[in-house]
Amino acid sequence: MKYNPDIIKSNRKTVQLELRADGKLVVRAPKRMPYREIEEYVNSNEKWIERALSKHKTLYGEPLPVYTDEELAQITAFAKAIIPQRVEYYANLLGVTYGKISIRHPKTRWGSCSAEGNLSFSCLLSQMPLEVLDSVVVHELCHRKHMNHSKRFYEEILRVMPDYFEREKWLKSNGKRYSGRLP
Ligand SMILES: [Zn+2]
Repeated sequence: MKYNPDIIKSNRKTVQLELRADGKLVVRAPKRMPYREIEEYVNSNEKWIERALSKHKTLYGEPLPVYTDEELAQITAFAKAIIPQRVEYYANLLGVTYGKISIRHPKTRWGSCSAEGNLSFSCLLSQMPLEVLDSVVVHELCHRKHMNHSKRFYEEILRVMPDYFEREKWLKSNGKRYSGRLP
């Protein structure tokens, strides 16, 4: 069958198509529905399927090309222009000091804060929504008050950024699309 869907039969009365988050097509069908009828149903819904698949591609993307050295240099320059401003703004808001800011491109970390207050951020944050960049800035700056991930640490974050966890969730589900482009 075209699209090679997973067919899930159950006690339901109607047949339904669904595109899962992993891009796999699922047909939910009544127990006694013959394979040939399911196939007909899938074929007659080709337009819907094509639209759903293309929307999925837009949302989750096909793997994007790896950054060239030149692109990475541009991204780093942009990050160096924007991140220190955000750090300064939130440091004032939180009432904390900080040391040096470095912009790097590690594969697995978005930011860090040393015991001396030196901050490090991934240049890739500059390619993300500003709300997400800010959430990493606030996270690292709050380590100036609590060098751990305790309840009090998160309370401090939420004080200045009540929707922090939504932003963090975005980063968790989308971050790999960015780090996957590092050479
Ligand atoms: Zn942390």
